[in-house]
Parts: sequence; C-alpha cells; structure tokens
Amino acid sequence: YRQGEASEVTVPTPAGDVTFSEHHPLVVVAGPCSVENEEMIIETAKRVKAAGAKFLRGGAFKPRTSPYAFQGHGESALGLLAAAREATGLGIITELMDAEDLEKLGEVADIIQIGARNMQNFSLLKKVGAQDKPVLLKRGMSATIEEWLMAAEYILAGGNQNVILCERGVRGFDRQYTRNTLDLSVIPVLRSLTHLPIMIDPSHGIGVAEYVPSMAMASIAAGTDSLMIEVHPNPAKALSDGPQSLTPDRFDHLMQELSVIGKAV
Ligand code: PEP
Ligand code: MN
Repeated sequence: YRQGEASEVTVPTPAGDVTFSEHHPLVVVAGPCSVENEEMIIETAKRVKAAGAKFLRGGAFKPRTSPYAFQGHGESALGLLAAAREATGLGIITELMDAEDLEKLGEVADIIQIGARNMQNFSLLKKVGAQDKPVLLKRGMSATIEEWLMAAEYILAGGNQNVILCERGVRGFDRQYTRNTLDLSVIPVLRSLTHLPIMIDPSHGIGVAEYVPSMAMASIAAGTDSLMIEVHPNPAKALSDGPQSLTPDRFDHLMQELSVIGKAV
C-alpha cells in the first residue's frame, strides 16, 4: 500500500507549469484522436484552450487494430502539434509506439503517452524510464491493477518519477452499446495503492460521445486528478474515433458543467 504523500507531476508548458496531483485543480487534456491536418489541429487547439484545457492530445503514430486503417501522419503530424503548441501555449500529449521515434517525438511532446496496447511493452517502458519527459501510462485493455502498477514500476525503476496513470476502459462482455467498460473503481483503489496521479479517459472508456460527459462527471465525483477527452471539429468526418469525439461546442459545455461539480477546472 501507498506510503507517504501523493506525488505531484509538474509539467512545464509554454503557458506555465501544470501540476497533476490530488491537491491541485483538475487538469483537462483534450483534442482529436489523430492529428489530421493543420487547420483541424489548430482550430481544435484554440477551442479546447479557450474552454480551459491545459493540454492538447493528438496522435501522430496510431496503434490501429487493422493495418489497413489510417495509421496517423507520423512525423509530419509532430510538426503540426508543434505549431499548435506554439499558437496556443497548450502542452502536448502524443503517443510513442516505437522507441525509434522517441527523440523526435520528445522534441514536441510535453508528456509522452504509452498506449493501452503497449502497456506491457517492457523494452519501450525501459526506454521512456531512461529519459526525462513525463509519461502517461494507459491501462492495457485487459490489464489487472497489479500488472498496470508493475508496468509503471518499469518506468520509475529507470529513474523517471513523472508517471501518470490513465484508465481508458477495460474489455467487458458487452460491446453492443459501449466500446469498453470504464473502470472507475480504480480511482479509490489506486489512491490507496499508489502515490501516482490519476487520469480518466471516458472517451475510449465508453466509446460513445453522447455518454462521455456523464462519465467525465462521475470520474470527478470519484476523485480523479485529470481527464482526457477526445474532441474533433467534425466528428462525423474523423479519420479515427469519430463516434466517441465531442464537438468543440459540446466540450465547451462540458467544461462549464465540470467546473460546477468538481475541483476547480
Ligand atoms: C488514444 O489515446 O487515441 C488511444 C489509442 O488510446 P488507447 O491506447 O487507450 O486505446
Ligand atoms: Mn482515440
């Protein structure tokens, strides 16, 4: 069980330091599943920033189930994320799939995301543990809490203490109406087991845009430190995860709802 105080993960962004911790305001990360083009990423960045998000998320390298699905624009998308960072002051979170990309991704990302499918890619975990950028470690879709915490331990053991744990839903038995089962029970459990900050991703967790706001609110009620929300200017046309993406207007409304119920946003 956890010994001592919750740790704080403080991340420098162009607009100032942002701290993920139990004792700080809720940190909201928002943006599209994938970086599609310059116009959409800049527009989304401006909208989520205006609504109160502190980080822009967006995939350059996408871990798609099918090799024939859109794989992300790769290196050119990193350049677009850098432009969005410059234009808005938002910090950037983007996923690392291959250790070969670490250096160039690290030039743009303020936080490196390790996705659910790579949670137990131990060589990748060791690589991000041996560098300084904070790491967002998503829970594997069928990972136990113990496996998840041990995966985090790989990063910590390498010397990188800046790890945030992100719950993004686990495989349930019913995929008819929801994509995954968002496991909010991890919030109090992690709180008692670990000092690491907690993020909840209701977008991948439930997989249906209409249901995302209520799960975001439930996450705050259960005590999350941060949220990750997928936002796309035109979800119907998104190259990935459109069905679970909020429009900027809906996200703006959600941020107002969140500020009423929870830790100040
Ligand atoms: C994502 O954040 O877009 C993503 C692919 O997440 P996960 O690894 O949780 O599926
Ligand atoms: Mn996605």
